[in-house]
Amino acid sequence: MTNKVQLGSSEVFANPIGLGTNAVGGHNLYPNLDEQVGKQLVKTAIESGIQLIDTALLYGPFRSEQLIGEVIKEMGCREQVVLATKIGPKFVDEKMLIDNSADFLRSEVDAALQRLQTDYIDLMYLHYPDEVTPKDEAIGVLKELKDAGKIRAIGVSNFSPDQLKEANKDGYVDVFQGQYNLLERGAEQAYLPYTREHNISFIPYFPLASGILAGKYNKEYVFHDLRANMPHFQGEAFVANLEKVEQVRKIADAKGEEVAHVVLAWYLAQDGIDFIIPGAKRADQVQSNLKTLDVRLTAEEIQAISSIFQ
Ligand code: NAP
Repeated sequence: MTNKVQLGSSEVFANPIGLGTNAVGGHNLYPNLDEQVGKQLVKTAIESGIQLIDTALLYGPFRSEQLIGEVIKEMGCREQVVLATKIGPKFVDEKMLIDNSADFLRSEVDAALQRLQTDYIDLMYLHYPDEVTPKDEAIGVLKELKDAGKIRAIGVSNFSPDQLKEANKDGYVDVFQGQYNLLERGAEQAYLPYTREHNISFIPYFPLASGILAGKYNKEYVFHDLRANMPHFQGEAFVANLEKVEQVRKIADAKGEEVAHVVLAWYLAQDGIDFIIPGAKRADQVQSNLKTLDVRLTAEEIQAISSIFQ
């Protein structure tokens, strides 16, 4: 078992390899998901030592949280798990709106506790900024809920750099979750200097660029889910990305490691990236991604991978 890492300045610690669960009951994101396969992969993750389980109201919607709540109840393992979820979205006439108002956040934390069948959430995020609520006020509501023992750490996701600064005016933000991977490196300039300086854990989402960086696709592969519309999966960009992945494969092969693990290890080697939450669709991917902890990259390898994606 690995050393645990601290979530920002909170009292929450976890294995740096977590699990992203938007494919666990995330029927609105991926077609034909089997809920039993989803529950099994969460169970495997917990049995294998993964602690940080990342979900959101939005995945399903609601279903990912419910399934994770069921697994934890069935396993009787609440204290082994570091549960992270996200609130803010609401559905009005089947349209999604974002509401970070005080009343809504208070009632949504209670609703999330029910869906997850627990009496505390380890890390609660605002999933997106809304247009009207001052960011520090919204975080102030989460701080109240933290003081009341309903949540243990505070996060924000998808906030612009300025919105993050406003949210963290009183220093209450422990975690920022934003898109960052070898194909999308803007966060290195836009967020990491600030998060490092303020002891905020940066947790990248899409670490495998939705699977492309796992090194298993070729240019003939046809996607039938939301990836069919993602820029990195289109035409020439897709081919160029696959070529870069092949260069990483040379480094991985020379070490006797898999591309996915080398890529995931590269993130953890970056100053300020404390956790990763690769998503998985099957239990074997969960177990595979845990092998990242055994990968040791040299400074030359870190630099070489960085240069491939410059
Ligand atoms: P990701 O981690 O970049 O990619 C995950 C996909 O890669 C899996 O679904 C699987 O897809 C493939 N994969 C995973 N492990 C693999 C392995 N060992 N070998 C080969 N392929 C492997 O993308 P993501 O799951 O979309 O994002 C990660 C997590 O971040 C999500 O689950 C969610 O919790 C969070 N997230 C948050 C936000 C936000 O707004 N805060 C947005 C997006 C995601 P296939 O098997 O289909 O290839």
